[in-house]
Parts: sequence; structure tokens; C-alpha cells
Amino acid sequence: LTVPPRRPGRTRLGVMGGTFDPIHHGHLVAASEVASVFDLDEVVFVPTGQPWQKADKRVSAAEHRYLMTVVATASNPRFTVSRVDIDRPGPTYTIDTLRDLRQLRPKADLFFITGADAMAQVLSWKDASEMWDLAYFVGVTRPGHELAAPYQGDGVGLLEVPAMAISSTDVRRRSAAGKPVWYLVPDGVVQYINKYDLYDPHEDDDADDG
Ligand code: ATP
Ligand code: MG
Repeated sequence: LTVPPRRPGRTRLGVMGGTFDPIHHGHLVAASEVASVFDLDEVVFVPTGQPWQKADKRVSAAEHRYLMTVVATASNPRFTVSRVDIDRPGPTYTIDTLRDLRQLRPKADLFFITGADAMAQVLSWKDASEMWDLAYFVGVTRPGHELAAPYQGDGVGLLEVPAMAISSTDVRRRSAAGKPVWYLVPDGVVQYINKYDLYDPHEDDDADDG
């Protein structure tokens, strides 16, 4: 792994996209580790609007996913949350996320963070070949998934991060079944899920493995 050198006059901004339904410690550990290894000044978490890959699945309201992401990241001075994807109408495509962030943060070099499962699909994303010009891609390990670079080039790096065998799907299922989700997600997120009864079993008939 070669970490791209810091460029004069530029800040380094990590971008962690996700559905975050809910955000969990796998997301947070991945972002923290990439920030450390890549010397990032900030990581912005970007909850998706309508995730196009999950169009046929039930996804919690964007505002709930956004607020849980805010709650989970509030204590870290380098973590922020962006509304660009949830405020853009229509399905969320990463190319649009990157274009919007480039415009909003012209002095920042972008580092898009993605887990092994998502990395395996990157080439199928809209305007994939243009994404490498907008951001450096950091693929991180995830238990149960093989990590590989989506193309040969120097715009991508692979990083091993502490293994967190946690998925939002599993958190939703556990919550719906009345099992504890303490320590899988931050305390404030457990309380937020309970407060709004987010994963009521009767509302979650079509949970998935994705
Ligand atoms: P779901 O089960 O609903 O798909 P998820 O746990 O996969 O949820 P997402 O919001 O889909 O979470 O993932 C956002 C990003 O975080 C993706 O790039 C994904 O690969 C990465 N990611 C999620 N969980 C982990 C984990 N435990 N370790 C490393 N990366 C992860
Ligand atoms: Mg997922």
C-alpha cells in the first residue's frame, strides 16, 4: 500500500458513503483506521438518499438514518456528516456524491472509503470510469468478503482494518427479534432505535443479506 503524499495547499477528506440503516461500529472503525493510515484531516459520512441497489428493499427514512449518523459521529472532532445525497432527489449514485463534494470542498483531495463487498461492485456503478479522477479509492477488509482492487491503477489502495463482523442487516434483525444490539452500534444509536421503534418486526418482512 502506498499512501499518496500530501499536496501543498490541499486538505485530505475521507468520504464514507453508506445506507447507515443503522450506522454501526464496523463503519466507524473502518473510517477511523483509514483516517489514521491516510493522514486524513476529516472523514465525512454521507448517508444515501434512495440506494439504487436496494430499490426493492425497505429502507428507513433518510432523516432517521441521517440523525443516527450524526449521533454516532458527534464525539469525534474529525467526523462530520453531509446531507448531499439525502437532499438530492432520485436514486443516489456515488459519481454525483463525488461531484457535489468536489464543488463544496474545492481545496480537498477526496478519499472514498468502501468495504470489500461494495468494492467488488464498484465497476458496475454509474460512470465508474470517471470516479477515479474525482477521488482516490480505499478498499477496506470486511469479514466474509474477499478484498480486491476494481482496476489496475494508482488511484486505489487496499487496507486491512480491524475485523468487525457486524452488518446493518444483522442489527435490524436482532433488534426486530428483541435481541440486544448494545456494543454493535454506539449507545446513542441503540437509544435512537428504541425511541422510534425503527425495526419493529411487523414492518420488516423483507430483511436481506445485502
Ligand atoms: P446492510 O446490511 O444494510 O447492507 P451494511 O452493514 O453493509 O448494511 P452499508 O451502509 O451497506 O452497511 O455499508 C456502507 C459501507 O460500509 C460499505 O462500503 C460497506 O462495505 C462498509 N462496511 C459496512 N460494514 C462494514 C464492516 N463491518 N467492516 C468494514 N466495512 C464495512
Ligand atoms: Mg451493505
